[in-house]
Amino acid sequence: LCMVDKFEMVLSPDELRSKLPEWPYFVIDLYHWDRHTQKEKGKICLQVSQSYGLLRDYFTGRELAVTWANDEFKSMFHGPLDRITTYDGPTSEFLRENGIDEVVLLDPWAEEVLSEKDFGVKAFIIGGIVDTGGNKKKTTPKIGEELERAGVKVRRRKIVLRGDVVGVPDRINRILGIILKMMVEGKSMDEAVYELQ
Ligand code: SAM
Repeated sequence: LCMVDKFEMVLSPDELRSKLPEWPYFVIDLYHWDRHTQKEKGKICLQVSQSYGLLRDYFTGRELAVTWANDEFKSMFHGPLDRITTYDGPTSEFLRENGIDEVVLLDPWAEEVLSEKDFGVKAFIIGGIVDTGGNKKKTTPKIGEELERAGVKVRRRKIVLRGDVVGVPDRINRILGIILKMMVEGKSMDEAVYELQ
């Protein structure tokens, strides 16, 4: 963090990025887009915008990638489309084009808890899913299965508060915020979750 602070004083985000180890992509995967109502789709777009805002605080914003980004998403999204990375095809293809063969999938149904050991991967995948109707239970693991079918190695990881997923906010941007607090600020998972609640 000290290193980041020092660079931030004098360097632009792009210059800062070039001085630091390669930063990962944070991918919001819209595989389940069509299962959402129009209102829910609007919420996804808002959470993607908020995710961009968060990432820009730490990095450049380009690290935010949205996959399966179709025309409807692009027309509904009010954030800066030209400053994020959008990919209109499958996540696995986006990863392949970027030479990434292993990812962390943030998944509340995972067995294993996210830890520092996972921070070396080149991409974190968050499901572009909003739950209001309660009809999308266990949709995140499906994203993992789809990636594995395409040959991507998937580490499914959950975020917990004092050992339990109950109490962890499940909004896309909150999940991203928790990861960033842990990775960049070196906070513990419990601290990060409390700060994002
Ligand atoms: N209904 C989905 C399910 O049952 O799998 C959950 C969707 S949640 C609103 C949106 C995304 O946030 C998930 O796809 C996942 O990537 C992430 N997420 C939410 N809670 C999480 C947790 N406790 N641990 C890890 N990831 C989580």
